[in-house]
Amino acid sequence: MTHLLHRTTKGSLPIAVGGKGIQIFDSDGRSYIDASGGAAVSCLGHGHPDVIAALHEQLDRIAYAHTGFFSTEAAERLADRLVEDAPAGISHAYLLSGGSEAVEAALKMARQYFVEKGEPRRRHVIARRQSYHGNTLGALATGGNEWRRRQFQPLLIETHHIDPCFAYRHQLPDESDADYAARAAQALEDKILELGSGEVIAFVAETVVGATAGAVPPVADYLKRVRAICDRYGVLLILDEVMCGMGRTGTLHACEQDGVVPDLMTIAKALGGGYQPVGAVLLGQHIFDAFANGSGFFQHGHTYMGHPMAAAAGLAVQEVIRRDHLLDNVKAMGMHLQRRLGERFGNNHHVGDIRGRGLFQAIELVADRGSKEPFDPALKLNVRIKREAMNNGLMVYPMGGTIDGVRGDHVLLAPPFISTSQDIDAIVERLGDAVDAALRAPDLAGRA
Ligand code: PLP
Repeated sequence: MTHLLHRTTKGSLPIAVGGKGIQIFDSDGRSYIDASGGAAVSCLGHGHPDVIAALHEQLDRIAYAHTGFFSTEAAERLADRLVEDAPAGISHAYLLSGGSEAVEAALKMARQYFVEKGEPRRRHVIARRQSYHGNTLGALATGGNEWRRRQFQPLLIETHHIDPCFAYRHQLPDESDADYAARAAQALEDKILELGSGEVIAFVAETVVGATAGAVPPVADYLKRVRAICDRYGVLLILDEVMCGMGRTGTLHACEQDGVVPDLMTIAKALGGGYQPVGAVLLGQHIFDAFANGSGFFQHGHTYMGHPMAAAAGLAVQEVIRRDHLLDNVKAMGMHLQRRLGERFGNNHHVGDIRGRGLFQAIELVADRGSKEPFDPALKLNVRIKREAMNNGLMVYPMGGTIDGVRGDHVLLAPPFISTSQDIDAIVERLGDAVDAALRAPDLAGRA
């Protein structure tokens, strides 16, 4: 009996009572390797002593001070740190409590930017299908996750969606990466021209698509082309790095690897590693200047924005990542993970694609490798894999609807940055067993 409205009203969940390193322990004494960091959150694993000490210290000083009255040392220092480490041009940070809040704020910053600049006609937001930007109404409207949007459609603001850059599903057999990148980016220019070039506020995209399509990196110079198109029409580029950012792909920001600087960037998850709920918008100097030289404020705010405990957690997590050179480990372990996934699943004719960047990798499951035909969604293969993995002491992040919100299954992996090669080997071994067990079910055999 529970009084919590859980994510599902069916079944019951184990009670997590502890965590250490890459493991979580439940009240029945079982342990689970956290190979997904929950939802790509726990970048330092669980129970990190330095983060815990920093939180104790902050709590002893001050737990909360409203941002309408005070700034705090923790928030100031986190903002300094984020700007110091950000791509050139990013000048300020706006601190929030999570990813959806960051996306909402970024959308409103983008709109207010044009109001301040005397371009109030700009009102359209363009994003991509098979994306996720959060569950609050503005973020949900921006996302292109059909399954999440469907029943709330009447409440959603109008937004516009183009195809993602998703090589496994959309690149043509004889098309080069460069040609595909050009074609995928052209969809943005076409959409801007269709809506009216002076009417578009922003293009929003996950640098590496996360949960909805499963660790899908852009191809070739796709993002550079997108940046150029945005510049051509004065459209702001908002990169959502809530899931793929803050080191997950081996560089602090995933877009560093694409040589692109957004006007606004959203971050969360690995920013605080789950030690506190924290997210942020990183904004370019031109956005700040528009507010500073215009109305003098950004018309937004939340009670818990810039929360000192959240800021202290973010700062402590980022200090550990820098001090312990963990981005080097993400790069090395990311390559090891990709290699091990290739060895374990490369010959599995139900694994159509292995993809990702750094410690952000996914496998996509198919009924038939040649045709890329997915399994019948009614079979809920992704749910079965999650169940088998949990029974096997492994947390992974499987999802359905990889292709169009309904069809397709993938499993996302986002292990902690502290993972060792032995940890990665154990993750791949347990995942292999879980996938094999799920595929062995009698009703799955032969049903595409
Ligand atoms: N944006 C992306 C890319 C995400 O992956 C998520 C969450 O998974 C969000 C936004 C929303 O973040 P939150 O769940 O912290 O509100």
